Amino acid sequence: MTKGEIELIFPKFPDEDKMTESEICVRCHGCCMYVTVPLDSPRSKDQKDLFRWYLLHRNVEIYIDHDRQWQILFKTPCTKLLDNGMCAVYETRPQICRDYKADACSRVGKDYIELFKTPAEFDLYFESRKSATAKKTAPKNAGKTAKKAAKKAIKKSAKKAAKKSTKKAAR
Ligand code: SF4
Ligand code: SF4
Repeated sequence: MTKGEIELIFPKFPDEDKMTESEICVRCHGCCMYVTVPLDSPRSKDQKDLFRWYLLHRNVEIYIDHDRQWQILFKTPCTKLLDNGMCAVYETRPQICRDYKADACSRVGKDYIELFKTPAEFDLYFESRKSATAKKTAPKNAGKTAKKAAKKAIKKSAKKAAKKSTKKAAR
């Protein structure tokens, strides 16, 4: 991990079956430690280069969520998070904070299907997709080429046979 990098932690507690949802959230407060913003999926060379630049920055990650939406994640604590894990603006907290539920949160399952912490991880993802696509299309193309060659050969020999029989008939 890079110096100064924030680690997102979503802890489990041994006594959580006896805790309320808000007690769990106060002790965990993982959701108050970052913000995410949706991104268009990178298609062009320039867009990919931009994503690599994002990932060169400390406390920035990119991920693809379960709806295949690309997201940029900034690991930065909310200024309203108090030292005791409570929210200083609880009564007027934003809707996104109200919508989180302790039984359907980052502690329970992964938020992403792909996570990129470095430009190298991002590049590797596209490389592995490229080779997976090449593998998928290779046998298909090979089959097509073989079929074409076979058809050509049949046509050729049919022509030859036809020519031969025409010559014979002429004699
Ligand atoms: S919703 Fe989940 S991840 Fe977020 S603070 Fe509560 S327990 Fe932690
Ligand atoms: S407003 Fe409150 S609940 Fe929302 S992220 Fe900040 S500290 Fe957490």
